[in-house]
Amino acid sequence: MRQVAPPRTYRVKSFGCQMNVYDGERMGELLAERGLSVAPEGEDADLVVLNTCHIREKAAEKVYSDIGRLRREDGSSPLIAVAGCVAQAEGDEIMARAPSVSMVVGPQAYHRLPEMLDRATKGERATDTDMPADAKFAALPPRGKGGRRSGPTAFLTVQEGCDKFCTYCVVPYTRGAEISRPYADLIDEAARLVDAGAREITLLGQNVNAWTGEDSKGRALGLDGLIRELAKLPDLQRIRYTTSHPNDMTEGLIAAHGEVGKLMPYLHLPVQAGSDRVLKAMNRSHTVESYLKVLERVRTARPDIALSGDFIVGFPGETEAEFAETLSLIDAVGYAAAFSFKYSPRPGTPAATMEGQVAMEVMDDRLQRLQAALSRDSLAFNRASVGKTCDILVERKGRHPGQWIGKSPWLQSVHFEGESRFGEIVTVDLAEAGPNSLAGRLVERAPA
Ligand code: SF4
Repeated sequence: MRQVAPPRTYRVKSFGCQMNVYDGERMGELLAERGLSVAPEGEDADLVVLNTCHIREKAAEKVYSDIGRLRREDGSSPLIAVAGCVAQAEGDEIMARAPSVSMVVGPQAYHRLPEMLDRATKGERATDTDMPADAKFAALPPRGKGGRRSGPTAFLTVQEGCDKFCTYCVVPYTRGAEISRPYADLIDEAARLVDAGAREITLLGQNVNAWTGEDSKGRALGLDGLIRELAKLPDLQRIRYTTSHPNDMTEGLIAAHGEVGKLMPYLHLPVQAGSDRVLKAMNRSHTVESYLKVLERVRTARPDIALSGDFIVGFPGETEAEFAETLSLIDAVGYAAAFSFKYSPRPGTPAATMEGQVAMEVMDDRLQRLQAALSRDSLAFNRASVGKTCDILVERKGRHPGQWIGKSPWLQSVHFEGESRFGEIVTVDLAEAGPNSLAGRLVERAPA
């Protein structure tokens, strides 16, 4: 590759989960620390980072079409770095198939992006897919450094990797073993985010509720202990966490939902299927009954909690009767929200070579029926909120003049008209409900 002038502008395109969004923000901070600035909207960037997701089929192929789209009319390309889970899983192949790519960096190695960039400007192509994660966090610049502001909501990765090895999932292979970030680093990063303007922090992890640590007195803590400590930050108004595993919902964490006012009444707890035979084949290491028992205890601790789940239809061998069990589970829970997908064979996962792969048209039909049930319940949840008065964290302006959009404690999107500003918490009467959002009337402003 030929030498190129050091880039002045960059763009990070993140695909997939919130952890990729978090990593994208951190890579941006690293590049800003090197004096690069974000390329203005609509303008070409000198450096483009494609922060990829590997969770679904065709993910890798999508990367190549994204790379192709970066080619300019004169045949030249910006400096291209491929990051994220496809980089981790298929780094060498990307280097072989895409000569315009000069850097491939895995999710646990992106703290070395600046030095890879130095080599790339000298014409050297570089791949770095090292693990483990802890080296990364120690090498990243502190949040909010140089006066960088945060939006009203921010992500904070507290845990990475996964030891569960569900048979359909690539995460244990692309993100590595579970690690918990040190307590002191998390308290410090959260305080910096709040100083920079965040009023709500979502704690992230592939198995966030597996986080463990020790506080400044050496006491062992679980995620609930961390949440209780973060709740002591005066200007932090709201705390959320995602994504959890049913087996790591401790008594302490369930109790925190009833006792910590700043912990929002929303729990995303994936289950994937409603049949114990399918759950076993998925290696989810829980049953439908144990999952429902966890939800029952959570609802006892916080009766108005909004529940959200993840579902996969068409897992190898899934029969119509087993799919019907998933629909029964949905009827039993009444989810406020949920994510649902067709099973997608991932290279290197046990399920990809299992017998009984389900036909695409069968999966399409099941996904449609499943999503109809989920939409029915999320609309019912929103309708049940009409007439309530609740606090909304204002996140952005709406499409109409004087309109604002924010989130309710139950993570519902709410729009209202009136005087307000970013990051403010206002009180709103919920007046109308739709499947994905509510309309409200401004009651009063919370004291600044
Ligand atoms: S618990 Fe989640 S991240 Fe871990 S293997 Fe299962 S699906 Fe993947």
